[in-house]
Amino acid sequence: MPNTDYTPWYVSPKGKCQLSDFDTEPPTQGQLSGDELAAHLADMGEKLDKLQSTLHAAKTRGLLVVFQGMDTSGKDGVIRSVFTHVSPLGVRAEAFGVPTELESRHDFLWRIHAKAPARGEMVIFNRSHYEDVLVTRVRGVIDEETCQQRYGNILHFESLLHNAGISVLKCYLHISKSEQKKRLQARLDDPRKHWKLQPSDFDDRELWPQFNQAYEDALSATSTPESPWYVVPADSKPYRDSFVAGLIVQTLENMKLKPPKPSFNLSKVKLT
Ligand code: AMP
Ligand code: MG
Repeated sequence: MPNTDYTPWYVSPKGKCQLSDFDTEPPTQGQLSGDELAAHLADMGEKLDKLQSTLHAAKTRGLLVVFQGMDTSGKDGVIRSVFTHVSPLGVRAEAFGVPTELESRHDFLWRIHAKAPARGEMVIFNRSHYEDVLVTRVRGVIDEETCQQRYGNILHFESLLHNAGISVLKCYLHISKSEQKKRLQARLDDPRKHWKLQPSDFDDRELWPQFNQAYEDALSATSTPESPWYVVPADSKPYRDSFVAGLIVQTLENMKLKPPKPSFNLSKVKLT
């Protein structure tokens, strides 16, 4: 097992998060081979499938998993690898791009709340309401006062979800700038991946320190015991996938989900 204790990767609500304190590479101690990581992912996938079935059947709790990270950090990839193991019933993935004209005339949480999970659902966000305190801040679309206000709005929103039985688990996929260079180059070299590239990927890379700062501030301001942020080492794809699968399994196990009781007396059933 790579990890059962995720505390070292938890962003403490006390104090300021420094991303340079977190490794982008897997820990060297107890390092697992590719085969071992694949076996762990398969094992976590089986557990995830069972837990998600119970979540779906019980309809008492919901789970929102948020993925954020720089371009090429692996948001699409981790979603594909981890959630391939679960039934599509009761699972939904939502991606958030530049807001539409209508969306930008609403408050920033309008489009997000509409896609939030109901009890019984597991929803995965590929980007999220955090873009509204990240890219918007870095690009000067919002000022510092609005950004601070939005941290407060986000805390209230996530606490609203928590009070309704919806847990929020937030994963920052942490890659190094040199790993991003390799991945952007690989996309440039592979015509099948050209569709993934946007001019903003290259502009945002130039603003790496500003994004880093915006992430550090956002993670520090919005990590809470109920809606925690984890900094996932994401330079290695197999480790990243295994880490995230284990973290979601742990979050669902902590819910102590129970299947619903039968709605009628099964002892009276006579099969003919
Ligand atoms: P991708 O995830 O590669 O499809 O790209 C989506 C793009 O939409 C990224 O460049 C994001 O920064 C951008 N985006 C997502 N949400 C927002 C937002 N609320 N405001 C501005 N840009 C956003
Ligand atoms: Mg992209």
